[in-house]
Amino acid sequence: LQSLSLSTTYSENIAKMVSSITHEVRNPLTSVSGFLQLIKQTSNLETIHQYTDFALSELTQASDLITDFLNLSKSQSKESTPLSINKFIKELYPVFKSEANLKGITLNIKITSDEPLCIIHKQHLTQVLVNIVRNAFEATEANHPSTQKEVNITTEVSMDQLLVIVEDNGCGMTEEQLNHLYTPLQTTKKNGTGMGLYVCKQLIEKYGGKMNVDSAIEKGTTISIQLPVYYP
Ligand code: ADP
Ligand code: MG
Repeated sequence: LQSLSLSTTYSENIAKMVSSITHEVRNPLTSVSGFLQLIKQTSNLETIHQYTDFALSELTQASDLITDFLNLSKSQSKESTPLSINKFIKELYPVFKSEANLKGITLNIKITSDEPLCIIHKQHLTQVLVNIVRNAFEATEANHPSTQKEVNITTEVSMDQLLVIVEDNGCGMTEEQLNHLYTPLQTTKKNGTGMGLYVCKQLIEKYGGKMNVDSAIEKGTTISIQLPVYYP
């Protein structure tokens, strides 16, 4: 009996992991396919080079994510050196911006004049932010044509904590949906797996951080991550 229940738990965990890897790898692959379609329609060489670079970096991410998940499943946190958050956001911006443009979303980024450093592996923070921002994009997809789709990303420092705030004016969430936000495999999307925010929470908490959510149905959602600021 005991070995039966053990093997059930084991296969459940494997199923969850496979599902989450699929989800995380599908996102960058969707981007790559988007960039390839754009390349097909573009004759400007410089633009083609730019799209190719974006596609390549998304592919690298897909492959790194697989490695990452193996790390996450072993509950290992990667060795980390202090990461400049402003620099990090500026690097990610073009990827988010082109995706927003494709989807007709206005993306605004406001970064703090403080220069916060945080102890977190770049790949992990990328994974967290990409998940949250993609959710925000998806939430605005069905906005009424008279409502401009808007996503704002802001960084702030308050009481030795960094806040990265992602705000959208999309569909918002019901009380019920909010209660299941971090429950693995709970999704309201046709092609969702409900693993994104679960993984975000695991990763952020590994680095001593927190996630905060505020949402109102048909008004929008604000999800922020909080991480301790590192002072050298
Ligand atoms: P998935 O995106 O695969 O559904 P997530 O863990 O990323 O999984 O999100 C879980 C659920 O939380 C989503 O299915 C959606 O219902 C809700 N959600 C997450 N972010 C937002 C958001 N910005 N606006 C509205 N709902 C959201
Ligand atoms: Mg998601």
